[in-house]
Amino acid sequence: MTHLLVVEDEPNLRQLLVNNLGFEGFSVEAAEDGLAGLLAHRARRADLIVLDLMLPHMDGFQVIQELRKANDHVPVIMLTARGSESDRVHGLSLGADDYLVKPFSVLEFVARIKAILRRTHPLELPTALRSGAYRFDLTAMEAHRENRPLDLTPREFRLLEILITHAGYTHSRTELLEQAWGADARPTPRTVDVHIANLRKKLGDDEKKNLIATVGGEGYRWTLLVEPDH
Ligand code: CA
Repeated sequence: MTHLLVVEDEPNLRQLLVNNLGFEGFSVEAAEDGLAGLLAHRARRADLIVLDLMLPHMDGFQVIQELRKANDHVPVIMLTARGSESDRVHGLSLGADDYLVKPFSVLEFVARIKAILRRTHPLELPTALRSGAYRFDLTAMEAHRENRPLDLTPREFRLLEILITHAGYTHSRTELLEQAWGADARPTPRTVDVHIANLRKKLGDDEKKNLIATVGGEGYRWTLLVEPDH
């Protein structure tokens, strides 16, 4: 199982990131400062580290330096403050693999992490899934039905991705809001219903096919078997 380490001193953001990565099926550990992060990584090696740069005691730059000095090339994605271009350049020059500028969407966060993991652990994450007449390319964020492309918005694709990667599981509207819009999402549960309705239309779903089942009052679930498609 892919193990991730989140080093972030802001408790709310840390919890949000840990929850979302856990939901994606990763094993996740969290640390609240640089030193704790390094120790956690030494105790159990992470496959990828999410590293805030501005941390108490030992900052993110020092953490990257320590790792690279020890010849540890674990992928690192930095979280940086808006406008601190020099920080990003510095972090990348020290050997970070990618960065996200705060505030970022959970959607983008998860997508970037998966992109890095696909590069570094190509066998562990499928790049495409197949379900019935549908094929989903998770890297290109494209969906096809009987080889014809479907015109989905990024948000619709993200909703679809959540449903198909957890086929059979019923997602509440709140969960879908958190996963596809982020924690301080302004849209209401009704927004989810509207997006799901559009998605079903684009998929050619109907009551008979019932690909995305509405589970009375609870939420939504993908009903077909989903398999990797390499
Ligand atoms: Ca910080």
